[in-house]
Amino acid sequence: MADTRSRQTDPGRAATAPLRLSILGASGSIGTSTLDLVARNPDRFDISALTANTNAEALAAAAIRVGADHAVVADESAYESLKGALAGTGISCAAGASAIAEAAVRPVDMLVAAIVGAAGLAPTLAAVRQGTTIALANKECLVCAGDLFMSAVRASGATILPVDSEHNAVFQVFEQGNIEQIECLTLTASGGPFRTYTLDEMRVATPEAALKHPNWSMGARISIDSATMMNKGFEIIEAHHLFPLRQDQLEVLVHPQSVVHGMVQYSDGSVLAQLGAPDMRTPISHCLAWPRRMHTPAQRLDLAALATLTFETPDPVRFPALRLARAAMTSGTAASAALNAADEVMVKAFLERKLGFLGIAETIERVLERMTASGDLNEARSIVDVMAVDAAARRVSLEELSRIAH
Ligand code: NAD
Ligand code: MG
Repeated sequence: MADTRSRQTDPGRAATAPLRLSILGASGSIGTSTLDLVARNPDRFDISALTANTNAEALAAAAIRVGADHAVVADESAYESLKGALAGTGISCAAGASAIAEAAVRPVDMLVAAIVGAAGLAPTLAAVRQGTTIALANKECLVCAGDLFMSAVRASGATILPVDSEHNAVFQVFEQGNIEQIECLTLTASGGPFRTYTLDEMRVATPEAALKHPNWSMGARISIDSATMMNKGFEIIEAHHLFPLRQDQLEVLVHPQSVVHGMVQYSDGSVLAQLGAPDMRTPISHCLAWPRRMHTPAQRLDLAALATLTFETPDPVRFPALRLARAAMTSGTAASAALNAADEVMVKAFLERKLGFLGIAETIERVLERMTASGDLNEARSIVDVMAVDAAARRVSLEELSRIAH
C-alpha cells in the first residue's frame, strides 16, 4: 500500500491548516457519515466539491451546510433543481458523468471516494492519476480494476487510505516493516441477516429481510451483498490489491457481533486486531485524520457488557459468493470486473423482485461460466478493456435474467 505523505507530515504545511476535501457520493451512507464528521469539526475541514447521483435537494442542502464550493449531480435531468436550490449561495454546480470526473480532480488534500459500484472507477482513477490522497470506500475500483488502479497509484505516488472497516482495521495493525513475518490477515464478516437461515429459508427471503443488516446501516447494494456474502468476496479482492500478500494469506471469519473488524497474524504467534463498535465514522475518521486520530461520537466498546464474542468459518454451501469471488480473483481483472457487473445487475433484479435470493449467486455463476467459455474473460489490460468487460457482463446478465423470466 502506498502510504507516503500526508498533510500532517508535510513539513511545508501548518499542522492546523484545514484539510481541503472533496466527497464523491456525498448523499450516500458513507458520504453522510463523512459529512457528519465534517459538520462536527467545521474548523478542521474546507470542502471543495460534493457529488451525488440524482438527489439534488439533499446534495444542495449538504453543500450549503458544510460551505462547499461546488456541487455536482450525475443525473443531468436533476441539474435545474440543483441550480435552483443553490441560487444565491455562491456555490457553483454542474451535472453529468464528466462533471463528476472534473470534480474529482479539483485540487484537494484528500478525496473521499464513496460512489457505489463501477460508476466510481473513472472519477476515482482520475484523482489517483493526479497523485491525490484517496480515502477509498468505493471498493469496486479495486474489484473491477485492482491491478490497473494500483499501478496508477504507484506511478503517481497517490496515497490510498482504506475506509472499508475491515481493511481499515488491517491497515491499523499492518506492520509495513514486518511484511515477511506476516502469516495471514483475517477479514471478519457479520454473516449478514441470513447467517442462521437454512437454504429453504434463504430461497424465499425477501428484499426487506435482506436489507435488514443486523449490525451496520449501509446503502442497498452493499446490504444485499452482505446478505449473500458477496461483499466479503469483494473485500478479499480488495485486500489482495491493498496489501502485498499472497491470495492464500487472506482469510475470512464470520463474527456476528462485528466488534473485531480485522486481524493480522505474525510469525511469532501474535495476532494484532482492531476492535470498535460497528460505526463507519471510526474508519472514516481514521482516514480523515491519518496519521493522527480525531474524536468521533461512535459508541465506546463495553466488552464486559458484550461478554461474548463468537467466531465461525463461513458456510460455503449457503454462501457460494465467496467461492465465486476467490475464483474471479485468481482468474484476474476481467473476471473480477465481470463478477462486479453481474452482481450489480442481479442485486437490482433481486430488489425489483425479478430474481430470488439464491438466484443472485447462481445467475452470477452462469454469467461467468458463459463469458469464460466464450473467451470474454481473457485479461483486461486497460480501463477501456475493463469497461468493455463490464458492459459485456451486464448484457449477458440481462440475457440470463430474461431466460429465468420465461
Ligand atoms: P449508497 O448507495 O448509500 O451511496 C452511494 C453514493 O453514490 C450516493 O451518493 C449516490 O448518489 C452515488 N452514486 C450512485 N450511483 C452513481 C453514479 N452512477 N454516478 C455518480 N454517483 C453515483 O452507498 P454506500 O453504502 O455509501 O457505499 C458507497 C461505497 O462504499 C460502496 O462502494 C460500498 O461498497 C462502500 N462501503 C460502504 C460501507 C457502508 O457502511 N455503507 C462500508 C464499507 C464500504
Ligand atoms: Mg466492509
